[in-house]
Amino acid sequence: MEMTNANSLTRESAIQTVQDEVMLNAAYIDGKWMTIEAPATDTADADSYDSNHDSSYDLYDSNSGTIIATTRLCTKAQVEMAVNAASMAYPSWSQTDVSVRASYLNAIAETMEQQFDKLVGLSVLNNGKPIEEAKIDVSDAIACYRYYANIITEQATWLEVPTSESGIRLLKTYAPVGICALIVPWNFPMVTTAWKLAPALAAGCTVLLKPSEVTLLPELMLGNILSAIKLPKGVVNILPGAAEVGAAMTCHPLIDKISFTGSNAVGEKVMSQAAKGIKDISLELGGKSAIVVCADADIDHACDLIIGGIFTNAGQICSATSRLLVHESIAQSLFDTLKVKAESLQIGDGFDTDTQMGPLVSEQQLNQVKKYFDIATAENLICLTGGEVLNRQGYFAMPTIYTNVPVTSQLWTEEVFGPVLVSQTFTDHAEAIALANDSQFALAASIVSADEKAAVEMALQIQAGHIWINEQQIVLPDSGWGGFKQSGIGRELGVDGLSAYQKSKHVLLSH
Ligand code: NAD
Repeated sequence: MEMTNANSLTRESAIQTVQDEVMLNAAYIDGKWMTIEAPATDTADADSYDSNHDSSYDLYDSNSGTIIATTRLCTKAQVEMAVNAASMAYPSWSQTDVSVRASYLNAIAETMEQQFDKLVGLSVLNNGKPIEEAKIDVSDAIACYRYYANIITEQATWLEVPTSESGIRLLKTYAPVGICALIVPWNFPMVTTAWKLAPALAAGCTVLLKPSEVTLLPELMLGNILSAIKLPKGVVNILPGAAEVGAAMTCHPLIDKISFTGSNAVGEKVMSQAAKGIKDISLELGGKSAIVVCADADIDHACDLIIGGIFTNAGQICSATSRLLVHESIAQSLFDTLKVKAESLQIGDGFDTDTQMGPLVSEQQLNQVKKYFDIATAENLICLTGGEVLNRQGYFAMPTIYTNVPVTSQLWTEEVFGPVLVSQTFTDHAEAIALANDSQFALAASIVSADEKAAVEMALQIQAGHIWINEQQIVLPDSGWGGFKQSGIGRELGVDGLSAYQKSKHVLLSH
């Protein structure tokens, strides 16, 4: 799929797209853009969220730290309007033939393809991603809409379930779960949205979608796409907003299901908000995933996988393999090669085609990474390379590797969400598995080994929802996504991702 015109992927063209096409100061509700007015200053009800919140919000270019645009975040009244629109749309959308729902999903994919360069450009501008990574994101989102268009048409309307009783027939079908609140983070705009929106629409749900306030630019283009394909009004409502808007969605009594991707701190709040009214919930949370390099691994290939697993998206990946476990017999030569490769990474502007690692998304995220550099210094960790933020404009941190990190270190146990790798050696597979499993998280893992059978056996014993062997970070629409322990509840992608938006129904017939 080559949709790129070399001249169209520039900062200037992305800024032009913002000026010409992105609907700032607006929420997409009931099939149209609705202006978000500035809050009234003279309102009598000083405690209400609508009167209290500062709706003005700056969107930044992570490469320079300068403001690209100022927009407004929507109000509680607009959340209410969106819930009403989704409720009105639900009876008809949930009964729409699956072939029609699939055709809308394919139309989203097709329109995204036509807008490919613009979506990539906005991701690079607003998120700091290198162009090649942003292209993968948009392509993966397109593939996800197509995938769910296919699998919903393949799902049987009714299944006959064998029973042990004679004279009884048992029929099973799947119904949509209802009206959904979809809340996504900033690290993979478009992709995380697609993982939720595509199966929700396929299942027959109507939705309120809240993109991260940090990366609104690519996500707002989706409203234009839904409008262009004439998706029935109210089926998808897009609400630019931060915590207040998210909480207004998750606490609303008419919301049946919440699907949240983000941090554990917010995930816990969302879970408690879901308890009121017993809402269905899926949570995709943090990670501290291990990459295990066995004694028989090819060192050069292992280093490439380690680098990709921690420095892609500047380490801002929930499944980043941020804990390296290496067999003691090859540790020294692996670290020698790893240091050379990490130090030769081209760091810079995502729009520069030579860039291999871009900036962090925001000043807040840069400060978070810097906090861990300070902790590492205080803990006297051995720094193989990096350990500092870059002395330049924008939100850049150096690719960083610490060796021989104690398992009690905060850098070993906590998710940094930046380009920071911690490492330890092991003597045998049992120790590697024990170290990999010694975490509150259990999202993903990588194993690098020449012995496929031994690697698969190790994979069976590592607690993680997704494990790569001699590969890193590839996620296919067909494979379920989600973790164990505090990495979350439920699964996205694959058929499990569709089940997250459906409930089974059984009908028993007596002859
Ligand atoms: P975050 O938790 O700060 O925000 C996530 C979303 O929740 C945003 O849209 C935010 O506006 C919203 N939000 C904030 N407070 C809320 C509240 N009280 N009620 C409802 N919504 C609220 O996370 P982030 O900083 O945007 O993303 C980084 C985190 O996301 C990392 O911990 C990362 O591991 C995790 N993540 C997990 C996965 C996964 O698949 N497991 C994927 C991507 C990111």
